[in-house]
Amino acid sequence: MADLVEAAVEGPSRTDRGIEMHRSRGREPTSVAATETAAADAPGQLVSSQFGLEGGTQGGRHRRKDATDRGSRYGKIHARYRAVMSPTARGSVQTVLGPVNPDHLGATQTHEHLLIDLVGRMGPRAETPEELARWDEPITLENAYEVRRFIRLFAENLRLDDVDLAAEELREFASAGGGTVVDLTTIDLGRDPAALERISRETGVRIVMGTAYYVHDFHPPEIARMSEEELAGVFVRDLTEAEPRAGIIGEIGMTWPHHPDEVKVLRAAVRAQRETGAALSIHPGRDPRAPLAAVDLVEDAGGDPARTVVGHIDRTLTRREDIHALADRGVYVEFDLFGQESSYYDLDTRIDMPNDAARIDHVASLLERGDGDRVLLSQDICRKAHLRRYGGEGYGHLLSHVVPMMRRKGLSEDEIEALLIENPARLLTIA
Ligand SMILES: [Zn+2]
Repeated sequence: MADLVEAAVEGPSRTDRGIEMHRSRGREPTSVAATETAAADAPGQLVSSQFGLEGGTQGGRHRRKDATDRGSRYGKIHARYRAVMSPTARGSVQTVLGPVNPDHLGATQTHEHLLIDLVGRMGPRAETPEELARWDEPITLENAYEVRRFIRLFAENLRLDDVDLAAEELREFASAGGGTVVDLTTIDLGRDPAALERISRETGVRIVMGTAYYVHDFHPPEIARMSEEELAGVFVRDLTEAEPRAGIIGEIGMTWPHHPDEVKVLRAAVRAQRETGAALSIHPGRDPRAPLAAVDLVEDAGGDPARTVVGHIDRTLTRREDIHALADRGVYVEFDLFGQESSYYDLDTRIDMPNDAARIDHVASLLERGDGDRVLLSQDICRKAHLRRYGGEGYGHLLSHVVPMMRRKGLSEDEIEALLIENPARLLTIA
């Protein structure tokens, strides 16, 4: 967190919104300009003081020298050598532009999608012929409310397929003070590694890419035939050989009750986690029993709950005691639907979706019981309705609008910093 320390020294100037941004002057000297390394390191210079995360952290003054800081000719050669020696960049965070120092991530959202194709086998909502007729309707101001409310009514809503638009939207995250996003689009949801590389280079935002298969309905046919070992091999290759490399396993899709192939994929993911030291992120089924059942599966397969994220808690566990029971298992509890403020949840109308204020109350309850180092926050942007271009909240919502609400509700700067910077950095560091 060296950048934060430097920012505090420099002292942020406030705008009328009480938010400001500037760049750290404390960057390490780099002699090679415009290399991949320099590009990869650029986001680390975006400091977080614009959302007031000014407190210095332990270790901030002891910036590690590693591949992130390789600016010199020697450093580049060394980094290449290291890559040969070590299949994953242990001790580093593996972004699409290469390994970086965990202290340089800045504010990080751990469950996002920059590009995704959810049309796949989801198909139209189509409860009536009238609804089916709307499937191909373009998004307009007139239907914007329905696009937002009814997730599967319009095909166009279910595809993020414009790389330039993704970059444009992500710039807003950077402007709000964001440093890193984790893109958890799975192989079977149209993951596009080369496009993520380009978006990262163009925006200066670090991107950690996932490797996974989504829920059974989206599985390609070969999953049914592949063994657990073969599936683990796919994830391990993505984490250790592919260019660009994945930096996390996820999101592993589970429905409820679990489909046997989903269990097989999750067990394979645990195997890959143990082999590579990468973290594992799970999309649990939509049932209050699903998160604990997923943790059971992880433990049965020999996985480490402390390297595991259970996502989408917002739409899965609404009772406080269930959330606490999950935290007691030692996993990361991820509230990743910030910005989705409708209590109506189209994918399961029995669920009372909390709004941002209620999400913060859940988070505060975890902080009070000492679980602050096990909570992650994100927005899971995955539809056009979430984008600014289409009237949505955009990738900057959490930093620009939720952080001030967290302060109003009494969260301290240290707590906010743990949620947005330290916890993601610990999670993403290859063990
Ligand atoms: Zn997701």
